[in-house]
Order: sequence, then C-alpha cells, then structure tokens
Amino acid sequence: MRINNLSKIYRGKYDTVKALNDMTLNFDEKGLVFIVGVSGSGKSTLMNMLSGIDKPSNGDVIVGGKSLYDQESGEMFGYRNSYVGLIFQDYNLIDDLDVYDNIKLPLELLGKTDFSKVDEVIKAIDIEDIIHHKVTEISSGQMQRVAIARALVKDANIILADEPTGNLDSTNGDIVLNLLKEVSKEKLVVVITHDDYAAHKFGDRIIEIEDGKILSDSKPLAQDNDNSEPVFMQPIVTFKNQVRFTKSFIKRYIARSLTIFITLLLIPIIGAILAGYGFFNVAKTYQSHQKKYNSDYVILAMDKRGLNVYYDADSYTDIFNEYPGSKLIQIFNTSIVFKDINEEDPDYDPFYTNEIKHVAIYQDGFFKIDGMEPTNTDEIVITDYLEASLEYYLGYAPDKLSIYGHTYDVVGIADTNYEKFINANMEDEFVRMSFEDNLYIYNSIIMDEASYGDSLDANSFVRRCTQYNEVFMCTPLNSNEVIRDIDITVYSESSKHVTLLSTSVRGYPTIGGRTAYFSSALINKLGFGSNYRGAVSKYAPAMTFYDRSRCAVTFQVGGVFESNKYEIILADSTFKTYAIERVGYGRLAISVNDKKYNEIVNNENVINQTFVYAKSINDRISSTKIAIFEVLFAIIVIIIAFGGFINSYTLSNEKRKIGIKYSLGLSRKKIVTPYILEYCLYLIIGFVVSFVIAKFGYPAVLRLVNIADEFAYKEASFFYISSFVIIGWNLLISLLMVASLLIMISSIMRKSPVEIIKDI
Ligand code: ADP
Ligand code: MG
Repeated sequence: MRINNLSKIYRGKYDTVKALNDMTLNFDEKGLVFIVGVSGSGKSTLMNMLSGIDKPSNGDVIVGGKSLYDQESGEMFGYRNSYVGLIFQDYNLIDDLDVYDNIKLPLELLGKTDFSKVDEVIKAIDIEDIIHHKVTEISSGQMQRVAIARALVKDANIILADEPTGNLDSTNGDIVLNLLKEVSKEKLVVVITHDDYAAHKFGDRIIEIEDGKILSDSKPLAQDNDNSEPVFMQPIVTFKNQVRFTKSFIKRYIARSLTIFITLLLIPIIGAILAGYGFFNVAKTYQSHQKKYNSDYVILAMDKRGLNVYYDADSYTDIFNEYPGSKLIQIFNTSIVFKDINEEDPDYDPFYTNEIKHVAIYQDGFFKIDGMEPTNTDEIVITDYLEASLEYYLGYAPDKLSIYGHTYDVVGIADTNYEKFINANMEDEFVRMSFEDNLYIYNSIIMDEASYGDSLDANSFVRRCTQYNEVFMCTPLNSNEVIRDIDITVYSESSKHVTLLSTSVRGYPTIGGRTAYFSSALINKLGFGSNYRGAVSKYAPAMTFYDRSRCAVTFQVGGVFESNKYEIILADSTFKTYAIERVGYGRLAISVNDKKYNEIVNNENVINQTFVYAKSINDRISSTKIAIFEVLFAIIVIIIAFGGFINSYTLSNEKRKIGIKYSLGLSRKKIVTPYILEYCLYLIIGFVVSFVIAKFGYPAVLRLVNIADEFAYKEASFFYISSFVIIGWNLLISLLMVASLLIMISSIMRKSPVEIIKDI
C-alpha cells in the first residue's frame, strides 16, 4: 500500500488547516508500523485516508494495483468491508447490538456463517465476561477492547488502529499490542500512538509526523512492492439483521415510534374515509351493488324536471350517437297476459311472470341468443326467463306468440342470466329490488324495430288511459311544479259539454293537433292567475303531460274552461295523434358489463329503484366535494411537515450510527433499510386497519346510526369506498414519508463516514 502526494485541507470559517501536507509513503504488506506525533499533527487524518472513510483534498491511496479514491464508489464499500479492519479512537461501536453481536457483525457482513472466530478473539482479548452486555453499559476500556476485537475478527489484510491502547492500563495495553504484533506477522498493522515506549518496544517501523508532514521514518521504504489485484467484497446484510436494527431503534425511541405509529394509523383511516367521499362515484358504487346483488341490467329514462320520462325517437338517436360502441337496447312497455292467475292459486309462484311486460328492440350483441336472431318482421326472440315462465304456467314453451292480433314465430331464446335469482333471498329488500329492476329485461320479448311498429295500434294507448282512470301528471313549461291526478276528458266537436272561457291565450296561437283545454282550477293552481284571460303571460302557455308511466307530451294551451277540479280536455283527434306518437317512446337498458357502463350511468338518468339511494349520497356529497379535497390537501401538507420533522429527529439521533455503518462498508441502500422497514411495518398495519375500517367498519356504523330512518339506512347501505381509493391514499402517505426519509438520508450520505460520525 502506498500514499501519493496526499493532502487534506480543512477549510474552516476563520482559518485553513493543512492536516496532511503532500505526504508520500510506502507500506510493506506486513509488519507493525507505528505512527507517532504530537496531538494535532495529522495522525488521525492520515488514518482516515488509509481506511477510506474520508476523502483527501489531493493525492491518492493505492492498495495493490488499485487507486482507492479513483474507484467507483461501490469499490470503496468493498474495501472498507473486506480489506481493512479499523480500530477508531472513539470506538464507534453500534449501540443497537450487544458486545458479541458487534464483534460478530463484520463476519456477517462478509457472508460468513462460521462464527468460531468471534469466540477466539473474545478469548484473546479477555472480554468473555461482558459479551452479552449492551455496548452502552461497559467502560471505555472495555469498549476499546471490543473495538479491537471487531477489527481483528474479520481477518482483513490491513489493520488500522487509532490509539488502540489509549484507554487501557499497561497490562491490558501490552496484551493488545502483543496480539497486534502477532497479527502483523502476516498483515500490515498500522498503529497510531502517543506511547513512544510501546512504539519502540513493539514497532517494526516508526514514522513520526508533524504538521501533516513526515518528520522521521525509522525504516523508509523506497517503493511499494504490492502489485496484487486486491479483491474488495461488498458487504452482505441479512434481512434478519436489518430487522434487528429496526426493532432495536423502535424500542430505543419508543415515544417517537409510538407517535409515528399512531399518526400512520389515524391519517390513513381519516384520509381513506374522506377520500372515499371525495372520490365517490355513483356508477362505480352502483356497479358494485349490482355485482353484490347479481344484477345485470340498468334501465335508463330521460329526466325531465325530476320525472323519469320516456325517450322519444330524437333522444334515442342522440344517446346512441353519444356513446358509440356501447350496447344500449330500447325497451317499451306492453302488457300481454298469457295466463290469468289468482295469487291464491296453489300453482302461483311469484318468481315467474304470467305476463309479458316489455318489448325490447333487437340489438346485435346485447344478448347471447340460442337459436336465431329476429330478422324477419314475423319473428321474435323470447328471454330464457319468459320461456321458463311460459313453461311453468302453460306447461310448454310455445313456438308462436300472438301480440295485439299479430302472430309471431319464436325463433330464439335470449340468455339473460336470470337463473341466479332462482335461489336468491328475496326477503332481502335489495335483492328483491334488484330482481325487479332486472325484470325490465327478463320480462321482454325481443323483436326488430319493424316488427314492433307493426304490432302496435293506436288503440293501445286509449286502453291504457282507461285502465289508469285518466290519471295524468302535468307540469307547465318554465315551472318545476308538478301536479298529479288530472282528469282527462276526450271530447268530439259534436258533443261539446264544456263552456270555454277563452279560445286562445293571446300571442300564442294554438298549434293544430297538439292543443289541450285546461280547467280554470288548474290554470289558477299553476299560477297563470288572472292573466289567462287574453293577457300575455310570462309563462309560455304550454304544458307537458306525463301519463302514469311518465311518458311526456307537450301541449299548447288552447283555451280555458270553467271547472273546479284539475282537468284537461283533448279533442278526439288530438288524443289519437298523441296515442300514435307515443308508440316510439320507451326506455333504454344497458348491461352491467357494457364498455361505457360508467360513463352512461354517471351521465344518464337511471331509474332503477335502488340507484336512487346511491344517487342521493352522491348528490349530498357533491356539494361538499371541494371542502373534502381541501381537507385531504391539508392532510397531505401536514404529513409532509410531520414526515420532515420526525425524519429529521430520527436521523439526528441515528446519524452517528449511520456513519459507523458507512465506515464498516455498508452502502446507502443497506443503511436505509431498517428505517424503511419500520415505515413498512407501520404502513402495512395502517393500511390493513384503514382498509377494514373504511371498507367495512365505517359503512356499518353509518347504517347503525341511521337504522331508524329507512331512507337514510338504505342510503348508508350504498356508501361505498373503492379499494383503489384506499390503496391510492395509503400509497401516497407511504410515498411522502419514505421520500422525505430518503431525501434526508441521501443528503447526509453525501458526506464521508468521518464527517457523518463527527457531525461536521
Ligand atoms: P491528531 O490525530 O494527530 O491529533 P488530527 O489528524 O485529528 O490530529 O488533526 C490534524 C489537524 O487537523 C488538527 O489541527 C485538527 O485541528 C485539524 N482537524 C482535524 N479534523 C478537522 C475537521 N473536521 N475540521 C477542521 N479541522 C480539523
Ligand atoms: Mg487523533
């Protein structure tokens, strides 16, 4: 080993110290070399350069063929780990380990599994009585001996010792020096000492330095004969040891550890619940509910002032264009009873239907069809559920069905997935509602559009009106008020039985075929007040009507007649036109597996009964979303501040240990591992707890709190926090904590081990 023109300059605030001044020295491969000199002459500085734990300002240390300070940084770790044994002036033992483990550590770092050498060294240095003591509990003389044992145990090529006997009595000092003398028969041992007597007694060579320069050299060596290519072995730290480091410092700073633990438990819980509200997504919530209750389809309608109304032909086109690639299917109400059945009947099973309630317009790919698709105007497909119902009530599944006087061939069976409801628990209200939602599809016959047009006649609407006792709902345009229960009277010109108060509201001529006359009671109720008599109202004199099934039609107000009940009259021709027009009105269904499910369910008006609850939570949350995100943001800021504070507290306490590990050859990654492990532990616990609480505990409490209020209870049943949100939030917290730790540690480890240990 040799040093070439080595200088180390310390630049202080007020002065500059040349601790080593252009020093050049050669060392033999073996022998005991003493370095002597007055205090402050640069001995320790030289030692730090030789051991690779500090950087020279200039010059180099060359070991074998390798230049130490020229190596990639990785080599330096290997050199410290496997090539030199260091005995520091202030021992630098690792507090987390007991005496035995301190001595054993270098062997572990070398990947050795045979630790008999530890006992040998312990015996030679005579510290058998303290091997299981903590290193903080022993005297400085004992610490010094432990430090010596640690350096000797690993069988390094070079032993470097800074004042190894400074704290020992002369007997023990001699024991150590004899041991080093013995070792030096095979290796190079460099010892710094104040003790001239010892140096002369044991030394093969004595080098005296002064002011960073060589003053004398008892046996100068002209050149370095070592041209071997030394192998530097990277240290190995077992996971078990990393865990041990973690455990020991968690225990040591227990108040700090508890603070972190509790914070990393509370923040994820609070954050996950808040994030659950903040990212609450109706579609996702509803989808999860559908999966839970085996539901397959979602039924959509148009929303008009809070009412679910049918789509008309134009809105179908709009919606199909808006979601290209999605499979939406149009469905229309119908009512075809195929078996009159009494609920008292022993044959009656409420699971099966005795009536076809819907017509679905065939859409390629919406159903898996067993048989053929309905292509011909005389062909229909029935669902497997209808097939089962027909089978159940009629005893056979007919291959022809007659609808409104037209007979169709049943050419195929659509697979709807209804079977999973056969054994479902219908006592569970949500299951039952799910089933009813799905009936829109289960209960359908499927035909193509042309066949559907054929099958309808204008009279079907008249039948419906009669059936519902002419109950209508109406809402005037520009008003949100909805009036229910309006009588509808159809009249023909020849049988006029009402007295019209006015024939038209001025300024708004009636439109042929869409005119209705309104009772004065209705007009008064709706706020037209006295204006209806010919005055121009600020309201457009038009009203939208919904029948029971909430099909909307807008009429112009043709005039007002005297009546004290809410009533409208339609001319016979108007009524028929309306009836024919509504043929094209219907609902839409999508499958829960539709590609555009989320988009559609979020944007369109879902009429499933159960969806109302999910939507209700969403509507309440949406007004507080900004506040929720603000709180989440505040939590992030707090966690950054907390992370900064707690990590800097940790590292200021751990700095010395980090420096010592660094000097033993541990890389940054290995040094940082115990601290990361600690966070992993807390974060995993925090994650599991927050997951369980946010996902199950909190919704359960919500339900419990709302148990008395039926709607709130059902709403609470829909509260749903996505696992992704919980995982994402936890990950964010982990990242922030760990990132701040890593940034701090890497800023510390930019320094040399000596600088870290001495906290310069
Ligand atoms: P010795 O071990 O021979 O007593 P050192 O090598 O420790 O001497 O110190 C040599 C000189 O360098 C001394 O003057 C000391 O004050 C100075 N010195 C050592 N370390 C530092 C440092 N980190 N910063 C500034 N000056 C230092
Ligand atoms: Mg010194």
